[in-house]
Amino acid sequence: MKAIVKSKAEPGLWMEDVPEPKIGINDVLLKMKRTGICGTDLHIYNWDAWAQATIKVPTILGHELVGEIIEVGSNVNDFYVGDIVSVEGHLVCGRCRNCLAGRRYKCAHTLGFGVNTDGGFAEYMAVPMTNIWKHEPGIDLDVAAIFDPFGNAVHTALAFEVFGEDVLITGAGPIGIMAAAVAKHAGARHVVITDVNPKRLELAEKLGVTLAVDVTKRSIADIQKELGMKEGFDVGMEMSGNPTAFRDMVANMTHGGNIAFLGIPSEEFSINWKTVIFNMLTIKGIYGREMYETWYQMSVLLESGLDIEPVITHRFPATDFKLGFEAMREGNSGKVVLDWSQI
Ligand code: NAD
Ligand code: ZN
Repeated sequence: MKAIVKSKAEPGLWMEDVPEPKIGINDVLLKMKRTGICGTDLHIYNWDAWAQATIKVPTILGHELVGEIIEVGSNVNDFYVGDIVSVEGHLVCGRCRNCLAGRRYKCAHTLGFGVNTDGGFAEYMAVPMTNIWKHEPGIDLDVAAIFDPFGNAVHTALAFEVFGEDVLITGAGPIGIMAAAVAKHAGARHVVITDVNPKRLELAEKLGVTLAVDVTKRSIADIQKELGMKEGFDVGMEMSGNPTAFRDMVANMTHGGNIAFLGIPSEEFSINWKTVIFNMLTIKGIYGREMYETWYQMSVLLESGLDIEPVITHRFPATDFKLGFEAMREGNSGKVVLDWSQI
């Protein structure tokens, strides 16, 4: 089968012929339909310091995907040939304290498809039945392909109550934009999203935020005044990984405000902890998606009319994957989806 493989310890990715995977008794075999490109895949393509320290070659990339089940193992219940499914990208150990207590998404020993083990940028993929999410019939396949990052957005956006609240999101990448759409859909009053890239702010506006703010031009304090806010934002969602963005967020929260922190900073950085303490802020780290409560929430948000499709800005046949990575590298894209149906 064809697969996009990190086969050499140098910058680049290569589409190669590799053996088809065999399933075990607890696995399903997927025929790939669509895959999304994640920022993580770009790090691996570029072969940066993180990728060099993390990835063993050869590894098939990819963890944002949707496929059709074409075979099930003898021990598999409730999944059938023909089901359209996505994959939870974290494999959990099943034996640590959190796994045993049913808090699988807090597993102490997770492994990631397409990072620590072969992933889904391939014609076929074998997946344990415990990592499968079955979609509702008629789901848009491009949207189904991005359930992994959509899940990051939902996990963050619903970490704290947003109904009637004023929400500040720093970073209008695909995940920040989807989180803004979720917060609006969930009844937030004002949803303000910030970035330093006008193209990304334009895209955020298309998904219906209250204000998309270029922080190189306007301050968040100024925005509060414009919106008639008196005491600061109730909920913050950090989605840029940028220290300045987070410092600004901390300075613009209401007393007792809640911050969900998803963005991954490249280095340690300092903040004014006195503000956190005297203003009694709560800061919660967010990783991955809850298994499988976030997946349930994603499905019902779409069924109740949330539309995240406009965040997909580029679509390419899987054979043209390099064009997809180029679009990502320019930094102006939303989600980039690869189509495997023509292979
Ligand atoms: P992205 O890199 O596409 O988006 C980040 C955005 O932040 C960019 O548009 C950038 O211009 C903007 N930005 C930079 N400086 C800023 C500033 N000072 N103020 C406001 N915005 C600023 O990333 P993404 O794919 O949307 O993911 C969002 C973040 O979440 C990234 O940091 C990513 O590494 C992280 N992430 C975390 C998890 C997790 O499980 N915790 C999962 C996926 C991604
Ligand atoms: Zn575990």
